[in-house]
Amino acid sequence: MKKDKMATRRETIRKMLQGAGFLGLGGLTWGAYIDEAKAVDIILRPPAAIPEEDFIKACTKCGACVTACPYDTLKLAIPGDNKPVGTPYFEPRDIPCEMCPDIPCVPVCPSGALDIDLVSSVNEEKTNRLDINKAKMGATIIDANTCVAFWGIQCDLCYRACPLMDEAISIKYERNERTGKHAFLKPVVNNEVCTGCGLCEKVCVTDIPAIKVLPRNIVLGEVGSHYIKGWDPDDENRLKKADDEKYNDDESNNKAMEYLNSDWKDLIDE
Ligand code: SF4
Ligand code: SF4
Ligand code: SF4
Repeated sequence: MKKDKMATRRETIRKMLQGAGFLGLGGLTWGAYIDEAKAVDIILRPPAAIPEEDFIKACTKCGACVTACPYDTLKLAIPGDNKPVGTPYFEPRDIPCEMCPDIPCVPVCPSGALDIDLVSSVNEEKTNRLDINKAKMGATIIDANTCVAFWGIQCDLCYRACPLMDEAISIKYERNERTGKHAFLKPVVNNEVCTGCGLCEKVCVTDIPAIKVLPRNIVLGEVGSHYIKGWDPDDENRLKKADDEKYNDDESNNKAMEYLNSDWKDLIDE
């Protein structure tokens, strides 16, 4: 019954936005619309969404992905949501993405705002197959101060809820020096694997979740191309293509000594 009501509401909003083309939205002015359109920083998009700036341009606000989602995960932003109006998003603490293997929200997108290639992988027969595990809807962080597992209390709900258990979330065992007998069993997230589905955030026992999914560009750093991981074959290949510039050892040593002897304030001024 509840689901029917939600579906009706969603359909009504979709039709309203499509029919009105945003121009006739009651008291909503274009100014307000544009303000909301700028509030793009903290928003989670459906699986296979292209980068946010391109997504905003490509999304026609048709609502096809919202209608296709069987779990009511996706919503179309309405005035007051403080999100670009008419665009699809989800809030994991409310309804996370259930990671449907057939990803029904993606192939129905008519504009390329959701790009099926981002959730496809090539199988042994060299044909493409849908692979929801490739989705990168967000990245997950854990607040060690409020996660009770970091206090030594047994809780592994987020770990158990994760569809990629032991890959996206694993449990790290640590000795509890304070009590000497109870172990810490701390959840650890690997954002290279995590899809950002938010099933962990949904089940977290704390009042405000200690584990949260946020847009990847907010959570993740970027190392830059000048750092090379010697143990990573892809990085090794980059190294082979790099300039064959030779460094003088004495010069490098002198530079290192100068750096170590310099005042930290000079370093900041640079
Ligand atoms: S993968 Fe399934 S649950 Fe997730 S947004 Fe798409 S349709 Fe909804
Ligand atoms: S968002 Fe949470 S539950 Fe989903 S894959 Fe990542 S760690 Fe697992
Ligand atoms: S469910 Fe919440 S409190 Fe429990 S281990 Fe996970 S993050 Fe910590």
